[in-house]
Amino acid sequence: MSGETPESGKISPLRKSVPCPMCKKPSDRAAYPFCSQRCKDVDLNRWFNGHYTVPVVESDPASDQIDAED
Ligand SMILES: [Zn+2]
Repeated sequence: MSGETPESGKISPLRKSVPCPMCKKPSDRAAYPFCSQRCKDVDLNRWFNGHYTVPVVESDPASDQIDAED
């Protein structure tokens, strides 16, 4: 019997460990790829505010709209 253990030294993680995109901390499995739910939330909010321009037109009377009436 050879004392060979194929399992040994062949431990590959299911997910690649990546640093949190927000604070570069080691990512947490629960909030992957973020380190915590908080960072996940922050990023989500950023995403919504930055890339997603939802047509929310309320309580904004100072809108500088130019009417194309000539
Ligand atoms: Zn983080």
